[in-house]
Amino acid sequence: MTDTVLVSGGSGYIAGFLIRQLVAEGWMVHTTIRDLAREAAVRQLLAVDNARLRFFAADLMSDAGWAEAMAGCSHVAHVASPLPTRNVRDANELIVPARDGALRALRAAKAAGVRRFVMTSSVAAVAYGRGRGVHHFTEADWTDPTRPGLAPYVQSKTIAERAARDWVAKEGGAIEYCSINPSVVLGPVWSRDYSASVVVVKKLLDGSMGATPDFGFGLVDVRDVADLHVRCLKAPGMAGERFIASGPFLKLREVADILRAQLGPQAHKVTTRNLPDWFVRVLALFNPMARLAASELGSIRHQDASHAKAVLGWQTRPVEQSIVDTARCLIELGIVKV
Ligand code: NAP
Repeated sequence: MTDTVLVSGGSGYIAGFLIRQLVAEGWMVHTTIRDLAREAAVRQLLAVDNARLRFFAADLMSDAGWAEAMAGCSHVAHVASPLPTRNVRDANELIVPARDGALRALRAAKAAGVRRFVMTSSVAAVAYGRGRGVHHFTEADWTDPTRPGLAPYVQSKTIAERAARDWVAKEGGAIEYCSINPSVVLGPVWSRDYSASVVVVKKLLDGSMGATPDFGFGLVDVRDVADLHVRCLKAPGMAGERFIASGPFLKLREVADILRAQLGPQAHKVTTRNLPDWFVRVLALFNPMARLAASELGSIRHQDASHAKAVLGWQTRPVEQSIVDTARCLIELGIVKV
């Protein structure tokens, strides 16, 4: 019998690639979006066999719709969570939907008899707030969400994953829960409604990032992140597992260098200047990317993905390819004029 999987947040960047791969592999897919008025547009972008994909309305902030979306599902990929493109006034604007939404999805999954629940967490829940210097992280590490200066997004992902694991330990019953913890996700973009992570490449390419801060991140391709989700949905014995999904750590300066080297004249607006730390702290008052950067200035975070490779046979493509594919899509879609 064909398995049915619920992918939450079907309008999102990672979820889109995941849904495409699942349908291509023969799964029946349910997906949630906040408003069914977007169904036709999202279907058009996904361009999969429509008979294998059903849409349900559900919001992370409300119980409505989750039971219907979950009915008949054996598996869940809980991907939806807010990724800010603007600064939030109150961290709870991110923490509450991330945490309560995960618990809502878990409760509905248990009630529906779901066997496997894969949650899209983040390296934000693993590797942030350690300060300057070179740090190495594995799945055994956790960000301390009470540490002063953490970006609200980092808090939200840490608190949500912790809450989900605590709930599963106490009340999960037979549900097999595991998390995937990606670093910054890049790769092909399908539409103007792109994820906040892609903004970094956009701002470098269009010249609006006039200088690069002393900030970097692990990078991973959206196609590889989707593939890791599918592997986690299928592999036996995933209960309690946690998988870092990351390629190499690059400073923004190095991303800029790759764009210039690979794109030639199309990268003529990509900056060669460095932004002083004090200026990043001022920018952080207005801009969520700068806020994330300000909390991690001078920090080099190597996030070890060897566990996913050893246990699940996961592989990652070269980081240069992900950066260039992101850039080319942004140019082709007219999002960046070069
Ligand atoms: P995205 O394109 O912004 O997708 C986020 C999804 O969450 C969207 O479908 C969005 O729906 C949904 N969502 C947000 N708030 C919601 C709410 N209150 N109720 C229902 N749905 C809500 O971002 P993404 O990059 O695909 O991220 C997907 C997941 O991966 C998130 O959990 C994120 O934390 C995690 N992640 C992302 C990265 C990255 O670099 N992109 C790295 C690590 C982890 P709308 O379209 O209606 O807003």
